[in-house]
Amino acid sequence: SIGIDAARTMRTLPPPPLPTGDPAAHKYSRGMVLVVAGPMAGAAELAAGAALRAGAGYVVLDGAGRAPLSAVICDDGDALAERAADPRLGAIVVGPGFPAGEGLTRSLDVALGSGKPLVLDAAAIAAGLTALASGERRAILTPHEGEFARSFPATGGSKIDRTLAAARQSRAVVVHKGADTVIAAPDGRVVAAWPGCPWLASAGTGDVLAGACGAMLARGGDAFEAAVAAVGWHIDRAARIGPGLVADDLIGK
Ligand code: AMP
Ligand code: MG
Repeated sequence: SIGIDAARTMRTLPPPPLPTGDPAAHKYSRGMVLVVAGPMAGAAELAAGAALRAGAGYVVLDGAGRAPLSAVICDDGDALAERAADPRLGAIVVGPGFPAGEGLTRSLDVALGSGKPLVLDAAAIAAGLTALASGERRAILTPHEGEFARSFPATGGSKIDRTLAAARQSRAVVVHKGADTVIAAPDGRVVAAWPGCPWLASAGTGDVLAGACGAMLARGGDAFEAAVAAVGWHIDRAARIGPGLVADDLIGK
């Protein structure tokens, strides 16, 4: 059950903030995102495309995948350490389409070592937990229920209780996905994204959310606010598409 204190902090998500349209903006100041993808090209492309659509000015896709939008820069992955060290880079997304294994561990080590703000999704969540919890950085984790249960087996209580405990444990903002997505920060802030959009229950939509989190984080603000904005953007975009939604639609015009 939900405690009274937690319930008081619950609210339906506000509409996503409108882009400010800063006249002095340039592509790097709007946020530069590096998406570190594994062998599953579809997931990589969805995350990279979503980062651009969610407002990033410059997106680089490292590893598998083609450019889903012509402005996405594809890199062969040889120079990941160099890419990750780029001072213009605002966030690195690791995990979409990247199964656990040596390749993921190697890429994750580079991303963690860069000191950059991070979005970890899918298998990268469990793989990155120990390193994340030992330092202070802006980071967002985006587990669905299965990934959450594997990464945070010791948490109990309501979904809000469990997500708050996970955020404290990982020292990262946790977006605990599902029909009733809960977003929690290590400092105790918590938002429940109710109602979500049921058309999101479709393959690939989580990869889109990870990319959107990257775009919001790359702007330079607070990680909790970035996660709330990304979840709001995701739900809002899905609601406009409606029945028949496939994840590719979310990165369309
Ligand atoms: P993933 O499981 O990683 O592909 O992520 C699925 C995405 O769809 C997440 O953003 C979930 O919050 C969202 N989602 C899944 N099922 C539902 C549902 N029934 N209602 C609303 N959103 C959902
Ligand atoms: Mg997923």
